[in-house]
Amino acid sequence: MIRALMAITSIASISHHPAAIFAASSSSPSPPSHAPPNSVDWESFGFGLNGVQTEHMWLDTKKVDLDDPTSPFSASADDCLRPFGPIELYPTSTVLNYGQSLFEGLKAFRREDGTIVMFRPDMNARRMASGARRFLLPAVDLETFVAAAEEVVRANAHWVPPHGKGALYLRPLLMGTGADLGVKASHTATFCVYACPVGNYFKSGLTAIRLQAVRGFSRAAVGGAGSVKAGGNYAPAFQVQAAVRQRNFDEVLCLDAATGTMVEEAGASNFFAVVEDGTLVTPSLGPGTILPGVTRASIIELAREECGCEVAERHLTLDELKSAKEAFCCGTGASVTPVGSISVAHDDGTEDEDAATVFGDGVSPGALTQRLHRILSGIQTGEDAELSQKYQHWIHIVEPK
Ligand SMILES: *Cc1c(COP(=O)(O)O)cnc(C)c1O
Repeated sequence: MIRALMAITSIASISHHPAAIFAASSSSPSPPSHAPPNSVDWESFGFGLNGVQTEHMWLDTKKVDLDDPTSPFSASADDCLRPFGPIELYPTSTVLNYGQSLFEGLKAFRREDGTIVMFRPDMNARRMASGARRFLLPAVDLETFVAAAEEVVRANAHWVPPHGKGALYLRPLLMGTGADLGVKASHTATFCVYACPVGNYFKSGLTAIRLQAVRGFSRAAVGGAGSVKAGGNYAPAFQVQAAVRQRNFDEVLCLDAATGTMVEEAGASNFFAVVEDGTLVTPSLGPGTILPGVTRASIIELAREECGCEVAERHLTLDELKSAKEAFCCGTGASVTPVGSISVAHDDGTEDEDAATVFGDGVSPGALTQRLHRILSGIQTGEDAELSQKYQHWIHIVEPK
């Protein structure tokens, strides 16, 4: 969400390893030490770069045959692991000119026994592959994607925060990097995975955030690419997002492009509400305007299976939210985030008071929100032994080499 977008914008401020360039031959990284550095103040970490630069990234650039569905990318760490650093691009590359780029976000956690695990990396691999089809990029096959993520975690293992103090956030990128001026898909593609340790989103208990929708602003329309985690979907929201923050709200709430009456999602997180009859409702993926979140899918399953909830994927109007009991957002960055209130601004920034909604006291998280947050993080961190066992198919253990 907020911080996820900040992470994107703050990439420019990374201090680079001068020695590592795109064309550099891969050097073999030093063996991982599994102990996090003692000098790091993990408690102070937020979601962002935290002034830290991990040492290793995955980088693989291939010529692609757009008619051949087999993945051109290699799963070999010897070929693809290299020191973290800037990558060299032609100004004519399709990623720079036409936004032919996809990204992913997933986390690796350190469990109490020291094991490092990734949460559902297969889901991220599938989502990137489906975006690749839409953007005419060569898909990274599932095994290669997961192996790359795993190698990046292993090579930077000392940057996985201590148990309970956050996670190592992984950013896979897939982009067209050929020097092709023509407005069409590139014949060269780059798959890159880098990592950054992030702190817990909430340091002390869940606190509700305030969302504001802005009339006339939407992030995606039917027929567009809203369901693709494409780089170009995010910058168009920066101006509105900044204006909303200036007015002291935490994040933009996106309304549907056609009518401006239905809630879609918030920043880079999906939206849920417990409506009047107790059903947990989240906007449907059907129209293709919402990002199919891994957290969203997990929450739907956990709400049904573990909380006995009725869950509906359907439209959700601002009007219906007035009688809703609680609301939350969810995504990899911020896990489950309670929503305290929703405001709607006219496009001149003044508030439409009639459209405002407050959930509960506007500050405290709802009961189901808290429960789902606890269940999800219990599975991810391994703190809930029973559920971790039951959902072990969601957990990918990164074996030390
Ligand atoms: C990444 C993202 C989400 C959340 O997806 P997760 O897989 O749960 O992290 C939701 N909405 C948008 C627009 C996103 O980019």
